[in-house]
This record gives sequence, structure tokens and C-alpha cells, in this order.
Amino acid sequence: MKQGNIGVTSENIFPVIKKFLYSDQEIFLRELVSNAVDATQKLKTLSSVGEFKGELGNLNVQVKLDKEAGTLTISDRGIGMTAEEIDKYINQIAFSGAEEFLDKYKNDANAIIGHFGLGFYSSFMVAKKVEIISQSYKEGTKAVKWSCEGNPDYTMEETEKADRGTDIILYIDDESKDFLEESRINTLLNKYCKFLPIAVAFGKKKEWKDGKQVDTAEDNIINNTEPAWVKKPADLKDEDYSKFYRELYPFGEEPLFHIHLNVDYPFNLTGILYFPKVKNNIELQRNKIQLFCNQVFVTDSVEGIVPEFLTLLHGVIDSPDIPLNVSRSYLQSDANVKKISTYITKKVADQLTEIFNKERSEYESKWDSLKIFIQYGMLTDEKFNEKAGKFNLLKDIDGKYHTLDEYKSLIEGNQTDKDGNLIVLYTNDAEQQYSYIEAAKNKGYNVLLMDGQLDIHLASKLEQANEKMRFVRVDSDVIDRLIVKANAAAHTLTNEQQTALQQIFRAEAPAEERKTEYIVSFEAMGAESLPVIITQSEYMRRMKEMAAMQGGMMSFYGEMPDTYNLVLNTDHALIQSVLQKEEAACDAEIKPMADEIEVLNKKIADIRTANGDKKEDEYAETEKEVLRTSNDRISELNKQKEAVYAKFGKNESLVRQLIDLALLSNNMLKGQALSDFVKRSVNFIK
Ligand code: ADP
Repeated sequence: MKQGNIGVTSENIFPVIKKFLYSDQEIFLRELVSNAVDATQKLKTLSSVGEFKGELGNLNVQVKLDKEAGTLTISDRGIGMTAEEIDKYINQIAFSGAEEFLDKYKNDANAIIGHFGLGFYSSFMVAKKVEIISQSYKEGTKAVKWSCEGNPDYTMEETEKADRGTDIILYIDDESKDFLEESRINTLLNKYCKFLPIAVAFGKKKEWKDGKQVDTAEDNIINNTEPAWVKKPADLKDEDYSKFYRELYPFGEEPLFHIHLNVDYPFNLTGILYFPKVKNNIELQRNKIQLFCNQVFVTDSVEGIVPEFLTLLHGVIDSPDIPLNVSRSYLQSDANVKKISTYITKKVADQLTEIFNKERSEYESKWDSLKIFIQYGMLTDEKFNEKAGKFNLLKDIDGKYHTLDEYKSLIEGNQTDKDGNLIVLYTNDAEQQYSYIEAAKNKGYNVLLMDGQLDIHLASKLEQANEKMRFVRVDSDVIDRLIVKANAAAHTLTNEQQTALQQIFRAEAPAEERKTEYIVSFEAMGAESLPVIITQSEYMRRMKEMAAMQGGMMSFYGEMPDTYNLVLNTDHALIQSVLQKEEAACDAEIKPMADEIEVLNKKIADIRTANGDKKEDEYAETEKEVLRTSNDRISELNKQKEAVYAKFGKNESLVRQLIDLALLSNNMLKGQALSDFVKRSVNFIK
């Protein structure tokens, strides 16, 4: 019997293993089972090249629990190890410069295990003693038994072993008793070993006999050794992809599309990505892609490894070039991993292009669910964005889908304004903006439905990329000014009439209390159009929307009052009627004031003319005095006029009624104002 000291160069690794690796304890099982699988695959390879001439026989890896003995055993019938090999592979561990490294990665068992090649030693995270009993496939070699109790001393001796291969026997320590529970091991095997390429048996299949469950002779295989992603796309049907999806996510809803990745140059990568069916909640859907390395599960948090927007997808990626035993931060900075990420983006874009070209109607039928992925990708990944023009769709309110290029040629003729800007009209709420949509349709305009949570962001992005294109919401201006084709027919109100109407309507607009401002303007919109229309400028509204989402820099816009345009249709009989009533009711009072203002203005103008280029400071004192008193008087008179108009507005319920009707059609009339409106309407009918 040989006794020795495990060749750790600078310090004892065992406390390290116990202490630092505690959080990721469970990966020991992955390490041991993959070692067993590797040893088995090596034997198969040797056999196929004729170097191993014996019978392969049943190659299943066996995982066994013995609760009474307190052991967990992993057995394989692979190549096994000779005493020399155990010495070389197990007893000598390079372990220098450990301290610094450990400090950096103390919470990352993967990194430590990978860095020091400690796969096998991870078993000491859960075991107080570990035995290796191994018989090499090589003829004439003896079986060996290696044993170690979690300190630098080991023993190694010859032993008897009936069969080729290796048993790793873990004597589970007292703090880790849960690894003696069948359900726990089942869960772990299911997590890490579900798709290993060699069959892994955990106990035997059970059957009911005489009222209780008993073992049958048949191995209980826990893995699918040939998962769909390792097969050729040509050998798989749609059902196979659906079936595999359910294998990954037993409770998942049928996905929209799959993309089969299959490359061997410049790196090896296979995988299947699924676009899941989701509507809105992005957050809930993350972390569903599972990352494998040669069919061994590595992780399901793939941020930094696949492009951020693809973390919304589901499925698997397998690459031997993704190092299994390394830390997350290492993975993210690894050049290979970066290449993989770029490649996946390209491949996904190519596949979407192909699906779109080949099966457009099917693609369209799934667009509403697909949209959020594509848009998110376009917004966050420039490479993807460059390609996405080919399959990104715009949906109009009639349910028709257009690529951007198609849409441009569709609306070019009718929706280009006098300055050559292509105006894309959209609604985010077809019901609420119904009357605006109708008006646009009557002009022969097309209106897009943009009610998704990323639509407006994408619109901004498209505007940046397409210089002469603007997205304008249908209710952001009166119809003739949405797309200004020629200088519109001007209204014919005098200045005095404009001031009168402005002051009457502004006084009656339900402002201030809700941080809202109304700017009254005039437009000759034709006698058939509505008398009053409320609009909000596209720019202002978008800034406020972005502010609400982002805060920070944008909060400047967020704090500004909501500004609406109250546009009066000067062609409408009701507006003209307000004007006539105003003149009849107010003229007697207004006229003398207006006359006086005119006289004062004349006086001011005369003084200015007489003084030529002089600055006001240099005027004679008497003149300065006249200017001051005149101006004071003018503002006083203006205030009085304003009061007269406001009083008229208050008494003339038609004004408030017109404003309320406009508010109502924008769904802005609420609460008390709404109930007042209803009462007032009843009075109008009476
Ligand atoms: P790694 O697997 O990363 O090389 P390990 O510490 O897990 O590191 O294993 C060290 C070596 O021990 C392996 O490379 C392999 O040569 C040998 N080994 C481990 N387990 C087995 C096994 N079940 N059968 C044969 N050889 C094994």
C-alpha cells in the first residue's frame, strides 16, 4: 500500500473547497458524472479505432444511493485508471498563487474548480471521505483503490474489481445529508445531466407489486442522449422541435418559431432557439436559454454570453468553445464568447429573413407576438438592427402588414408634405382616437397601429435612420396640418376678433388645476369639420412620454405642464355664432376701451417717431412720463377687456359646451366636468 501527500504546492486545498465552494456545492455531481461520461466516450473512441478490442457491453453510467451506508456512488464502464494514472491525474494538483485568485473568486465555485482543474475534488464539498476504485481497460493492469478523507493524505492500494471502469464512492458528510435524498439527486441529475451523450441510470425503474413500489431489472435512465439540437435540421420535423421544447419547458406554451443553430467554423456551436409566445411582460421571460458544453448543462443565466435581446428567447446553446469551468466575468470577456454572441445575432437575423421570405403569411400571423423581440433587438443591437429592415413589419389599422420599404412606397404619393417629408401617421389607441383616424382615412391616408410598449422608441429610431421621415400621431394636429401640402387657406378674423375669441375660450378652458395649458388658435377647416378640436404636439407628447419612462435628464420635460392646442374652426357656424353674440353683447363696453387704447398707442408711436434713433433713456423726461402712464393705462384697459370677455364666456354656455365636446372626443372630460357637461347638454335640448 502506498501512502502519500496530495501534490498541492502551496497550501491545503480542502478547507478552500469546503469554505469557498459552499454556495455552489451541487455542481460536484455534474463534475463526477461528466468525468464518467468522458471516460466512457474515450473507450468508445478507442474501440472504434480498434485500439480497444474487448466487448463494450452496457455502457450506462450508474448513480446509486445507499442511505444506510451514507454513500453516493457514480460508476462507469469507461477506460478506468491505472495506479500511475491516478497518481498523475488525481494526486498531482497544481495549486500555486492560490490566495489572490481565491480572494477574487470566492463566490464562484465554477471559477475555482476550473482554474485549478478541481473537477474531481469538488466531491469534497459534500463528502468526508472519497474512494476511487478503478480498473483500467488496458490489459494486464491491476485494479486500484484510492482513498482520501478530506485532508492532504491519501492511501492507494491494489484491489479487486470485477469489471472495467471506475467507481467513485462519496461518503456524504453530516452537513450534506440532503445529498442522500433520492429526490435531491433526481433534481440535480435532471438539471445538469438531462442531455448527456451517454445514458445515465439512477437506480432502477420501479413498478407496483403487491401494493408497493419495487425495483424492476431495468435501468432508470434520466437523460436523453440525443437531444434535438445535436441532430441535423434536415432530420427533424416541426413536431420534433415542439416535442423538444416541451422537454425543456414542460409547462411552456407552444412557441412561435424555432431557429436551429449549427456551425463548425470559426467555432463549434449548435443549439435551438425558440421565440416564445409573450405579449408584454419582458422581465418575466428572462433566463430561459440554457447553455451547454458538450451536452453538459453549464448555466441558464446567459447575459453577456448571448446578445441581450436574445435572452428573451428560449432554448439551448451548446458549444465546446464555451469554457465550462470558468467564472461569469471571465466568460463575458472571453473573445470566443464574444464571437459566439455576434454570430448568434447574425444567424437569428438570417433565419428570420428566410422565414419571412418563404412563409410571409405565417410570419405575419405571428407578428403581433414576435414584434416585441424584433423591436427590442433593433433598439439594443446595432448589428441586428442593420439586418432587421428586411423582416420588421409595420401594421396598419386595417390589419395589413408592411415592411418599411413597402410602406414608404405605399404612402409616398399621398403623405409627403410640401417640404418633402414623408409623414407616417399612427394611432396608439384606435378607439380613443377614432374621429382623428376617420378624418385621416377620408383624406386617403394610411394609419399605423402602434400600441406596443416599444413602438414609439422604434419610431424614433427609424426617424433617425430615415432623414425625411416623421411619425406623427393622428391626433397631434388638425387634419390639414398633419400633413401640410400647401399653405392652407388662411382664416379671415381681424386681430380684435382673434383676441376676443382667445380670451373667451381660454377663460373657459379647464386649465391650471391639473397642470394643463391650452393655447387657442384658429384654422379655417371648412364648415363640415368640427367647431373645436384639441391636439397635442407630437414632439411635446413624445418628450413627456419618454420622461415618464426614463426620468433623469428628461425630467425637465416631465415637469412642464401638458400643453394642448385648442383649435377653433373659423368656418364653423357655431364659432361664428359665438363671435356674433360676443360682438352684440360686448361691443358697447369694449368699443370705448378699444378706442382709448388706439389713441394711446397713437400717442406712443408719435413720441417714438419724433425721437428717431434715440434710445428711450435719452428721451425728454416729460415724454418718458407720457410713455409710462400710457402703457400703464393700456394694460389696465386690456385687463378690463379681458374681464369683459371672460364674463361673456361665463354667461354664454355655448363656449363651455364647445370646449367640453372637444374634450369629450379626446376622452379628456372626467369627473365633475363631465357631469356638468351632461346637465348643460340637457338644458340645451330642453
Ligand atoms: P478534469 O475532468 O477537468 O480533467 P478532474 O479533476 O475532474 O479534472 O479529473 C482529472 C482527471 O482524472 C481527468 O482528466 C481524467 O483523466 C481522470 N478521471 C477522472 N474521473 C475519471 C473516470 N471516472 N474515469 C477515468 N478517468 C477519470
